[in-house]
Parts: sequence; structure tokens; C-alpha cells
Amino acid sequence: MRILVVEDEKKLANFIKHGLEEERYIVEIAYNGEQGLEMAMNNEYDAILLDVMLPGRDGFSILQELRKAGIKVPIMMLTARGATEDRVMGLDLGADDYLPKPFSFEELAARLRSILRRSAPEKTTKLQCGDLILDTITHFAYRGGKEIELTTKEYALLEYLMRNKNRIVSRSNILQHVWRHSFDPESNIIDVYIKRLREKIEFDPSQPQLIQSIRGVGYRIREVEENKSNES
Ligand code: CA
Repeated sequence: MRILVVEDEKKLANFIKHGLEEERYIVEIAYNGEQGLEMAMNNEYDAILLDVMLPGRDGFSILQELRKAGIKVPIMMLTARGATEDRVMGLDLGADDYLPKPFSFEELAARLRSILRRSAPEKTTKLQCGDLILDTITHFAYRGGKEIELTTKEYALLEYLMRNKNRIVSRSNILQHVWRHSFDPESNIIDVYIKRLREKIEFDPSQPQLIQSIRGVGYRIREVEENKSNES
């Protein structure tokens, strides 16, 4: 999921970027209105977080311009102005949500998931491996009719494995994608998280069917049914 943040307060913009990256979004920032409009017009984003009070061009006029151009990307307005008329104006102009400052990151993230969920077609938000389903918006996994709650890193690791379904991913690739090299390759962090994931998603964690260890290389998540038919 690729998100554009249009916000002139650098500290706030970077705080949002950092937080969203932790949740595995790809984030780009525009620090003024003109730049924000240009980026939004020329790139495909899954959502835009748009500040109202911006140097150059304000958020309302950017919103108006984008909707006029037929760009339907979900937009959440951010503003220090809590006035009802601003809120109404933003929604009237075609904003999907309106978040008054100051806000907590948790609220921003929850509302972002909500506008993404409303706009995204059901099928593109789910990854599947056999009877294991991973929702890339809510970050919940589902198996055997059970909802499984994952931590941020557990989710990132499982998403990475599932996007590479049936392929072996090396330990160094996992470190690079999930931990961004913040651990030594010799560390056992991956094994710790694989163990935790197995405890959550495998029916019998001592006999893992989904996540396989490939000795000396890395890990692979496999479609269980496919695996059986291949071997028979
Ligand atoms: Ca501002």
C-alpha cells in the first residue's frame, strides 16, 4: 500500500511516515501544496493524507482539483482547525475522512485502514496459502474459521513469506525485508519469530505443515494441498 502524506510540518510528516512504515506501508511526503498536487496527479497512491493549512496551495483546493480530474483515491484531511464548517466542507468536496489535530498515531492508522477497506476491492486485500488467509489491511490472519491476531513483526514476516508462497526465502532476504538489517545475520531473531508464527498459525506447531525450515538457507511457506498432490 502506497500512501502520500501532504503535510508542511516536517516533524509531524516524518512521524507519520515512520509510523506507517512500521506498519509496512510505502510512504512518500510532500511538504507543500503544489508539490503534493503534482505528486497526487502523476502517481498512483492507495490513499492520501492531506493537511488543510499548507503553504502554496491549501488542502481543500488540492482535494477539489483531484476530484475534478476524476482521481478517486481515498483522501483523509488532517487539520488543526476543528470547526464543523471545515469538516463539512472537506467532506462535501469529496474527502473520505477528516482527522482533527492533535491525533494519536493509533487513531490515524485505524482510520486509514477504514478508508482503505472501504475503497479496496475485497480480493486485492487478502493473501491466501491453502486455508490460511492474511488480510493486508486489518493485518489479521484467519485459519480454520479462527481469527488470529499478529504483532507488527509477525505480520510483516508472514506477509513476506506469503508473497513468496512456495518459494524459498533466504534468511538474509527476510532480515532485509522485515527487519531492514537492524539485526546481525547471526542473530536468532528470525527463528524466534518463526516459532511464534507457527504457534499461532499451525494446527500442530511441533509438526509444521505450512512454514518449512530449509536447512542452511531459510524458510518457505507452502500450500498444504498442493504439496500432497505433488508428492503422490
Ligand atoms: Ca499545516
